[in-house]
Amino acid sequence: MSVKFTILGSGSSGNCAYVETAEARILVDAGFSPLQIRKRLATIGRTPENLSGILITHEHSDHIAGLLGLADKFQIPVFCNRDTQDATVWALKTKWLSKKSSPPDGLDSTEHLKSKINWQLFTTGAGFEIGDVSIETFSIPHDAQDPVGFLLRTARGNIGFATDLGHTTKLVLDRIRPANVLVLESNHDVKMLQDCPRRAWSLKQRILGRHGHLSNVAAAEAAAQIMSAGLHHLYLAHLSRECNKPELAEHVMAEQLHHIGATHVRLQLAAQDVPCETLEL
Ligand SMILES: [Zn+2]
Ligand SMILES: [Zn+2]
Repeated sequence: MSVKFTILGSGSSGNCAYVETAEARILVDAGFSPLQIRKRLATIGRTPENLSGILITHEHSDHIAGLLGLADKFQIPVFCNRDTQDATVWALKTKWLSKKSSPPDGLDSTEHLKSKINWQLFTTGAGFEIGDVSIETFSIPHDAQDPVGFLLRTARGNIGFATDLGHTTKLVLDRIRPANVLVLESNHDVKMLQDCPRRAWSLKQRILGRHGHLSNVAAAEAAAQIMSAGLHHLYLAHLSRECNKPELAEHVMAEQLHHIGATHVRLQLAAQDVPCETLEL
């Protein structure tokens, strides 16, 4: 059976991807509302009910917004490390309590909220399995408690995820190098970010910092460093709406791929509002 891969959406307003193998149906991040995730899964003929697991990279809302209402409702196992679990529970609780309506039953205590979800904790750097998928985890430099990237090894190829990172480390490059399909952040154009009138100086510093987000040029440099004959599909992801343009991100990476002779790589862009076409491996 083929492996199917669909980026349901990616950007600072939400991130979610779907991987399906013979024995597993996995979401990587759940950064849209439960309804939105349901709608996007429906576009590929799937529903949240029979997901085998949700992998969480880190606790920022664009990666966990749909967790409550999805994982608890259908008792979908949620895989993350302990610091991400703690920060996620805190974020979900804060979000609920900030609403004027009284919180649903059980949400008044952190422990109770924690108990609503079937958590499956991993240690960063350790691997685990969901059905026939082997998942490798690795630390990424980003301003969250213990953010990670993933490499999903399937019978038909390896799918790597490296979004939300301020810079690339040797560890990150080593861990995504075996990817046949790679989702790589190409967040911003540095000049557009610096010139953006709607961003505060402090936010610009955060994004540009060592624990912020990867620029188009940094993504292109990373691609050159991990390039292999086995990398066939490269998705540029987590593009900033205000400080990037899809055609610009694509141009910078396409130039790089041309420069290093990586003509075998199919370059695609992940969008915020619509799922990518499903890739069959
Ligand atoms: Zn983040
Ligand atoms: Zn993010």
